[in-house]
Amino acid sequence: MSEIIIIGAGLAGLTCARRLHAAGVNCVVLEAGNAVGGRVRTDLVEGFRLDRGFQVFLTAYPTARAWLDYEQLQLRTFAAGSRVRCDGAMHLVSDPWREPLALWATLRAPVGSLADKVRIATLRRAARRGSLAELWARPETTALTALRAHGFSERMIERFLRPWFGGIFLDRELETSSRMLEFVFRMLAEGHAALPAAGMQAIPDQLAAGLPTGTVKLGARVARVETGALFLDSGERIATRHIVVATENAGAAALLPEVGVPKWRATTTIYFAAAKSPLGAPMLVLNGEGRGYVNNLVVLSDVAPSYAPAGLALVAVSVLGDPTLEERALVERVREELRAWFGDVVADWRWLRSYRLPWALPARMPLVRKQPVEVRPGVWIAGDGRASASIQGAMESGEAVALEILRTK
Ligand SMILES: Cc1cc2nc3c(=O)[nH]c(=O)nc-3n(C[C@H](O)[C@H](O)[C@H](O)COP(=O)(O)OP(=O)(O)OC[C@H]3O[C@@H](n4cnc5c(N)ncnc54)[C@H](O)[C@@H]3O)c2cc1C
Repeated sequence: MSEIIIIGAGLAGLTCARRLHAAGVNCVVLEAGNAVGGRVRTDLVEGFRLDRGFQVFLTAYPTARAWLDYEQLQLRTFAAGSRVRCDGAMHLVSDPWREPLALWATLRAPVGSLADKVRIATLRRAARRGSLAELWARPETTALTALRAHGFSERMIERFLRPWFGGIFLDRELETSSRMLEFVFRMLAEGHAALPAAGMQAIPDQLAAGLPTGTVKLGARVARVETGALFLDSGERIATRHIVVATENAGAAALLPEVGVPKWRATTTIYFAAAKSPLGAPMLVLNGEGRGYVNNLVVLSDVAPSYAPAGLALVAVSVLGDPTLEERALVERVREELRAWFGDVVADWRWLRSYRLPWALPARMPLVRKQPVEVRPGVWIAGDGRASASIQGAMESGEAVALEILRTK
């Protein structure tokens, strides 16, 4: 078939294939699903673009910059500002994603102290210092311990930093690595948070479009891997020299038991159609009340109007973890919470769909960036579980494996 077979057409597998292709080396990508993208997929439902779980693209991701055509993605950026719901009211705080220094433009927001403002600036400086390689080598603790060590007040942590970083890491406990905290902070400071006009799936679609026709084979689930060959679900044996296992971590563990199953971070995204945006601004709303199911909310059509049919708004609500409440009950609890935020109009929002994602992000603490990894002779492993749990981590790890295979060829 080919000397190199990549299993999984997520961002790691596709970036690996693109790197090999750029070097003039053929490969085949076997994907179990019916489309490329893995965890980055978008469903078109009644004219709404529903990403399979709310997520954002950070334009500063270095590997993404190298491989993606941002103009073609028609990136729509989030505004330099966010709202925090606390003390029973909405408070505007400036740009938590791009310009943390401006956070306190609305000083009246009862979110933190002036000293916290200075600490944000210090953290920002620390995150931007030196190279990324140096950042990943810094002493590691949990994000929460790091924030406390930076001196942030508990009020600042509970009202702003916990829902903000908790929403990014899908981890309200903030047990995620402090290196990840600094990495995300750096990416947010150096670029924009954005959405492609056609939905997040435009990212893997663009990567796949850069491969020769026929490179990606959909509906091809690999059942077993051994040195020099793999077996499809159908029982077919395919001999090959290099195998790149770029499945999500759980998939990798099924194929390569020695890899082990990681702990996963879960999230649920609930989408509503509204007649009118309750915000009228492309910004994130954070729940700083310290209670409730909702962690954050965004009106995606305020960011990218193409996410909703003309004249309608698309609201995405993030509930962290995997709540035990049954589907409809959860939707109604969330609706009730949001009624307190936006008033009775919420009763008219139409529930479109919920995505429960128990395997959204691998929980990695300590964050050992082991890559590229040759697990067995000729069997490599790539994916966000190898670098950082992010789009950047997946792409970077796919590229690293490709470079190593090219080096050893
Ligand atoms: C809800 C959610 C929110 C997120 N938010 C963000 C965010 O805001 N910013 C950010 O940077 N990142 C975010 N991420 C993380 C990011 O999406 C992932 O890190 C990245 O997409 C992982 O890519 P991957 O290629 O490593 O794995 P995957 O995307 O999981 O790809 C693995 C592929 O392997 C295939 N596969 C599995 N087993 C087999 C098999 N046996 N045979 C053949 N194929 C197989 C799967 O079908 C899949 O297509 C989020 C993820 C989720 C789910």
